[in-house]
Amino acid sequence: MKKIALVTGSSRGLGKNTALSLAKKRVDVIVTYHSNEEEANSVIAAIEAMGVKAVALQLDTSDTKTFDGFVEQVKKSLKDTWQVEHFDFLINNAGIGVYAPFAQTTEEDFDRLMNIHVKGVFFLTQKLLPLINDSGRIVNISSGLARFALPGYAAYATMKGAIEVLTRYMAKELGQRQITVNVVAPGAIETDFAGGSVRDNPEINNFIASQTALGRVGVPDDIGNAIASLLSEENRWVNAQRIEVSGGMFL
Ligand code: NDP
Repeated sequence: MKKIALVTGSSRGLGKNTALSLAKKRVDVIVTYHSNEEEANSVIAAIEAMGVKAVALQLDTSDTKTFDGFVEQVKKSLKDTWQVEHFDFLINNAGIGVYAPFAQTTEEDFDRLMNIHVKGVFFLTQKLLPLINDSGRIVNISSGLARFALPGYAAYATMKGAIEVLTRYMAKELGQRQITVNVVAPGAIETDFAGGSVRDNPEINNFIASQTALGRVGVPDDIGNAIASLLSEENRWVNAQRIEVSGGMFL
């Protein structure tokens, strides 16, 4: 049966790659963007070129007050584009990076990270629950930084640690609806994230490659395909797990 996925923050980076990887597996996609509507439209065009359906919706995961309006938009898209009331896969991917040593992290930065990475994921998922099919799947996105510690990411990694705990609680409570919930923790990947430093700063890129068993930095294709395969029927019994996709960073 045809599946529909909603991938937050899929105008760029890992979300975009996940949306395209799912489309390659014939999964229809609801793409969300925060500010880059044009980029989102180009993702839609690429998905439609594969003969798969997609729509783009604006979403700000930092602002819970907008979530009721977003849920209405999702309902309308499901009805207008698919003539259904439910979707199957929710990938909570949208996120930002803030680099600041622990001693210099501001309350403002902390709150911004908390709103996007924790509060937003918690309440958006809660509000989308009635729209997710029984036997659906949820994938949250953490980071290798929740396992190992690199100076400058105390606040960011704290949020990712929270999302790993939340994943287990979601899995426990949503199991009664046969919904699985897992968390994928990418290592450092070459995207626009944190100003594109992993991709564009040779010193950082070389350092990460030197700390990675497979000897290079990750690229978006390393992540989107892993998430799409986690969502396949073959992985239906994988539940409440943290799956690190890092090429073996900091072993
Ligand atoms: P990018 O900066 O490349 O893309 C971020 C995406 O999130 C964009 O689509 C952006 O939308 C969207 N976004 C940003 N802020 C908001 C917001 N307030 N509300 C809704 N959407 C928003 O980042 P990545 O693809 O690299 O990161 C994706 C996820 O992966 C994040 O959760 C990140 O923490 C995690 N991660 C990334 C790693 C990396 O090294 N790249 C490593 C480990 C985890 P728009 O384009 O419209 O602004």
